Amino acid sequence: MHRVLVTGGSGFLGSHLCDRLIERGNDILCIDNFFTGSKINIKHLLKHPNFEVMRHDLTQPLYVEVNRIFNLACPASPVHYQHDPIQTTKTSVLGAINMLGLAKRLRARILQASTSEVYGDPEIHPQVEGYWGQVNPIGVRSCYDEGKRCAESLFFDYYRKWSLDIKVMRIFNTYGPRMHPNDGRVVSNFIVQALRGEPITIFGDGTQTRSFCYVDDMIDGMLRLMDAPVEFTGPVNFGNPIEFTMLELAETVIKIVGGKASLTFKALPQDDPKQRQPDISLAKQVLGWEPRVSLDEGLKETAAYFRQLLRV
Ligand code: NAD
Ligand code: UDP
Ligand code: UDP
Repeated sequence: MHRVLVTGGSGFLGSHLCDRLIERGNDILCIDNFFTGSKINIKHLLKHPNFEVMRHDLTQPLYVEVNRIFNLACPASPVHYQHDPIQTTKTSVLGAINMLGLAKRLRARILQASTSEVYGDPEIHPQVEGYWGQVNPIGVRSCYDEGKRCAESLFFDYYRKWSLDIKVMRIFNTYGPRMHPNDGRVVSNFIVQALRGEPITIFGDGTQTRSFCYVDDMIDGMLRLMDAPVEFTGPVNFGNPIEFTMLELAETVIKIVGGKASLTFKALPQDDPKQRQPDISLAKQVLGWEPRVSLDEGLKETAAYFRQLLRV
């Protein structure tokens, strides 16, 4: 049985990962500082004999005994990661150093939740893993983008210098139940606005694109990567290659959730990438992974969650 550390385990993706690891019979240590995560996300696991949670900030060293590490701790929504950008960089960089040091001492396999943001505002489309990206090093998104890029760099330096067993996954926009209702990300914003009968906020003219992956598909990919042969380190893209403009997303949310069907246009945030779509050939070829849940199905599940949470 694996003893697994999940950092950021009370967050959106982390809590779904913990569920799946419990189903597999693993013993889990979840660490979180509850900055964007919530105990409610893991409440149902707290009494499980294989689940333990520890309040800990990843910027500090951690001495525990595990044989697998999923490093997910880091706020993911632009609103949250820009709230305290210096803490965001510290979490990505010092967090990676501490987790790599831990993995090195224990000879544990370690997976990094990296991001499509390492590609910045991409000049090639769709994005392949070999593309080095176009990132503003001094903008408001840099704390996250450069923090995650530095973490990837550390992972590969530990791999080269210490032969560490690493896995680097580049996650593209993912959504689903347990996103924070005030998270600020587009899918949760649109659904919550539609449920409350408020106008949908489109940033810019809404022609920018993203590709949305349902959480169950993403966690499936994460587990496949963690179980992959030692020589497959990644980086590997995970996401749903079907691309939508934000206007199309708003239309779909209104169709599924109902609501007022009115839009309000707001300023486009600084350095907001114009387009994003993963090339997932590598994940398909090596891991046999591809997303299965359609946007309509995923939005229905997510809307049902928010309807219950907000009692609307
Ligand atoms: P989230 O904000 O819901 O979860 C992040 C978790 O990390 C939270 O529980 C938070 O409290 C915790 N955390 C933050 N700083 C910490 C620190 N210093 N010490 C300990 N815990 C800390 O976000 P999420 O969507 O679940 O994202 C999880 C990971 O996946 C992140 O690393 C994120 O960068 C990556 N990712 C997510 C997406 C996405 O679309 N959801 C896309 C790309 C990458
Ligand atoms: N570390 C940790 N837990 C461990 C081992 C290391 O948190 O079990 C942290 C510690 O803060 C250390 C960092 O990981 O500084 C990097 O460890 P490494 O062994 O690579 O380098 P060191 O700084 O110890 O020379
Ligand atoms: N966005 C929007 N309305 C919102 C929130 C976001 O139009 O209420 C846009 C945002 O400008 C971006 C896209 O939706 O172009 C995705 O934003 P999100 O914050 O979800 O993720 P990221 O920009 O990191 O992909």
